[in-house]
Amino acid sequence: MDKSLQLEIVTPDKVVLSEAVDYVGAPGFEGEFGILPNHIPFLAALRIGTLYFKANGKTSNVFVSGGFAEISDNKVSILAESAERAEDIDVERARKAKERAEARIAQERDRIDYARAQAALQRAIERINAGNH
Ligand code: ATP
Repeated sequence: MDKSLQLEIVTPDKVVLSEAVDYVGAPGFEGEFGILPNHIPFLAALRIGTLYFKANGKTSNVFVSGGFAEISDNKVSILAESAERAEDIDVERARKAKERAEARIAQERDRIDYARAQAALQRAIERINAGNH
């Protein structure tokens, strides 16, 4: 009895993805975790990173800017501030965002700016990573 999982990735703007999959690998705050069908109900915070899923023998990447994963009844719901499928990532834009963030970090104006620049840098690095695979 091989039931599949329904993966849904939602941001405040749109549904980025809604599809039946065989496996999800998610960037949990406490480390990556995997979800197979018939997983127990589960809620986890995500870090900025690359989520991947397997469907029809193919592995696909999705960038997620943190957020939450909820697993219940063979449905994986990801809620994130922003998320893009690998093929929708503009890698050149991410490279420019990375350069801007690095310049802001070098200035180290104050702690809030520094933390925001670090988060922007992390998003850019992970987008480049997800977009190049
Ligand atoms: P940038 O400085 O390039 O805007 P950012 O990290 O500040 O990057 P976000 O605030 O995470 O951007 O996202 C704003 C919107 O732009 C979201 O809808 C996100 O999906 C989209 N977005 C950001 N960067 C990219 C990218 N490199 N490729 C495709 N979409 C992107």
